[in-house]
Amino acid sequence: MRGIVNEVYLDYNGSSPIDPRVVEAMLPLLYDGVGNASSAHRFGRSQAGAADQARERIAALVGGAASNVVLTAGATEANNLVLRGAVDAAPADRPRILVSAVEHASVSRTAQWLDHHGLAAVDVIPVSDGGFVDPDTLAALLGPDVLLVSVMAANSETGVLNSVAEISRRAHAVGALFHCDATQAAGRLAIDLAGMGADFVSLSSHKICGPGGVGALVGSGRSLRSLRPLIHGGGHERNLRSGSLNVAGAVGFGEACRIALDERAAEFVRVGLLRDRLAAELKHRIPAVCENGDVSRRIPNTANVRFEGADAEAVVANMDPVAVSTGSACSSGSIEPSAVLLAMGLSRDAAYESVRFSLGRFTTDSDIDAAVDAAVTAVEYVRAMNRESR
Ligand code: PMP
Repeated sequence: MRGIVNEVYLDYNGSSPIDPRVVEAMLPLLYDGVGNASSAHRFGRSQAGAADQARERIAALVGGAASNVVLTAGATEANNLVLRGAVDAAPADRPRILVSAVEHASVSRTAQWLDHHGLAAVDVIPVSDGGFVDPDTLAALLGPDVLLVSVMAANSETGVLNSVAEISRRAHAVGALFHCDATQAAGRLAIDLAGMGADFVSLSSHKICGPGGVGALVGSGRSLRSLRPLIHGGGHERNLRSGSLNVAGAVGFGEACRIALDERAAEFVRVGLLRDRLAAELKHRIPAVCENGDVSRRIPNTANVRFEGADAEAVVANMDPVAVSTGSACSSGSIEPSAVLLAMGLSRDAAYESVRFSLGRFTTDSDIDAAVDAAVTAVEYVRAMNRESR
């Protein structure tokens, strides 16, 4: 991988390496970017101009309007803003929100928090074995009391896609708002607010080779007016996110969006072929391997692979310097299996044996060779250790 000798980075869904063109675009802002974008003097105006161009580019990635881009510190904040902001402004006759069972923690835990504090009644939309929301299952939960439905475009652990246009149609039929966390899909697939029928989408810069700590909530003017802010202050970002702008970050994010829009179609094909070769070779060279999630409806860069009888944390540790990840989370000092895989009906054991490989712009053929070799060695070793300890 670019810049990292002898290391293979296959954790793009965790965070992707910054594109050198993004760094170039940010440098002038970092060196000479004095001035607060809210100030009327020419330094401020120049900052505001740079941020406005970034908004244009972010909006273009999702077919939105630049004036409807609310810059945030990432998708976590965008997700919090939309759930909490919508509930805060909700009419009394719409107390319910629906979130899918495989949402990122920034949606699911925010929903739990709202429920716990009695601010909203939350229903979780179950997913199929393949890891996606069946629109009919959603329809059974919908009613005129639903304020908001939140279903992600692509899952970060499995890459599985939801039928968002159909889901939004069902949500709108009962007058609910539809939010789509498009963090993992944007930059990889054509995402279009109108085509998806989304009232809001959440985006994150560091998942598309931009800088960390920047993201956005993009909506329509009307949907954004239906939110209240989380962060109060000087009224920046349509009064939804106060605080002096991180202009360099926004410019980097904007450049990352511009590149993604230009290159995603070609990248889709190239990365998809690499991912498919990776999965095929893992299955060919290692016994008892399967993929989790419906492989016919995935973003092209992700494979979630189960190595039966091999603990994934141990496999990942033994694959070093190849960086891959497990969906397990550390909770109160113990390692919990991936909530996403459990929601898809996998047993705890199966979930503990699953590894996520996520590729991207700088992944090469030789990275795939190295990853397969490392996985073969690591899985054999971990399985042998298991046999010995029995
Ligand atoms: N949503 C999804 C689907 C994600 O994969 C992530 C990052 N893992 C987030 C939200 C959070 O994004 P950020 O790091 O920008 O807060």
